[in-house]
Amino acid sequence: MDKILVVGAGFSGATIANLIAERLNKKVIVIDKNEHIAGNCFDYRDENGIMIHKYGSHIFHTSSEKVWQYINQFSSFNQYMHKVYAYIDGIETTIPFNLNTLYDVFPDSLAQRLEKKLLDKFQYNTKVPILEFQKQDDKDLKFLADYVYEKVFLHYTIKQWGVTPKDVDGLVTARVPVFISKDNRYFQDKYQGIPTIGYTELITKMLTHPNISVCKKTNFKTMDKRIMKDIQTTFYTGSIDEYFDYILGKLPYRSVEFKLEEYGREFYQNNSVINYPCNYDFTRIHEYKHYLKDKSQKTVIAKEYSENFKIGENERFYPIPNEKTKQLYSKYLELASKSKNIYFLGRLGDYKYYDMDKAILRAMELFEQLYQNHMQTLTQGVLND
Ligand code: UDP
Repeated sequence: MDKILVVGAGFSGATIANLIAERLNKKVIVIDKNEHIAGNCFDYRDENGIMIHKYGSHIFHTSSEKVWQYINQFSSFNQYMHKVYAYIDGIETTIPFNLNTLYDVFPDSLAQRLEKKLLDKFQYNTKVPILEFQKQDDKDLKFLADYVYEKVFLHYTIKQWGVTPKDVDGLVTARVPVFISKDNRYFQDKYQGIPTIGYTELITKMLTHPNISVCKKTNFKTMDKRIMKDIQTTFYTGSIDEYFDYILGKLPYRSVEFKLEEYGREFYQNNSVINYPCNYDFTRIHEYKHYLKDKSQKTVIAKEYSENFKIGENERFYPIPNEKTKQLYSKYLELASKSKNIYFLGRLGDYKYYDMDKAILRAMELFEQLYQNHMQTLTQGVLND
């Protein structure tokens, strides 16, 4: 019997499994090494009824109609629009640094002067990556750029990545640009929100299909050989270096630890996420009850600490994009191209810093490409008969 194997039950694995089961009517086995599905999007309600995002805050946001329509089949979404606050010099303000932030952190006269200079130079609503923003000739704007670099990016990035913003790929810090705008939201996508049933339940729905069987606590490397011999094609959403037993070397990752704390009061902070760029060893504090407006007299927060990924000790969270890792990943892909019927996808499989919508889109596009090939083969078969 020809079966499909999907390794990993996060968004990438669930999307490809769901599409194959539904549209190709093929049997799919989904395995995951964890005790739970949903990968790093895993959430659960604790004893206080608060939906905890075990691996940190996940806010769904997309500008892709295709992804939004697809994902809404499985859950409705609330209309939560994410804002992030940060303490800069003890003042609570908005991140990304924008025109409102100017007035929070500077005296009005200076804020007005800077705002005018910014609006003379940039079009309203422009997003400027910090490394580009630093290239200023004007004395006041140079002062502002140095201030934002130091107060928002430098120490946060050192905590998060272990190196300065100049030593991480520019695309990483460009995710949180300087925003020439009064829009205080973190994301400007057309669609955003939190699944009202939670991510785990949503992904459970994606995997609930007569053609799909899910095996948790199942490791790909130690899988029963009798099952493996029926497998026609494998979709692997784990790390490609692990698949090849690290024969070309290890791909580095950053990991994160979330230390939960419970408090006997309704709220700990006035927002879901508050960043601490310059203070403390953690990067940010998440307070989960804000996302679905969970009602409880208690609250749960998570302090987020970043660290290097170590095999067997913690989990992979962030690929580290740079020239060296790009080259190593390409070598692994070259190796993969020699094996038949294996596809790598997802944040780990593609070694790309995907947001959830991009991981889903990648899986949808891979499916569409394979679907077209499959249809062509079928048509050719019919024509040849
Ligand atoms: N960043 C920063 N200060 C902040 C927020 C973000 O320096 O207050 C930088 C940091 O390098 C971080 C990157 O911007 O890793 C991307 O931030 P984002 O919030 O997108 O990270 P994620 O939520 O994916 O962890």
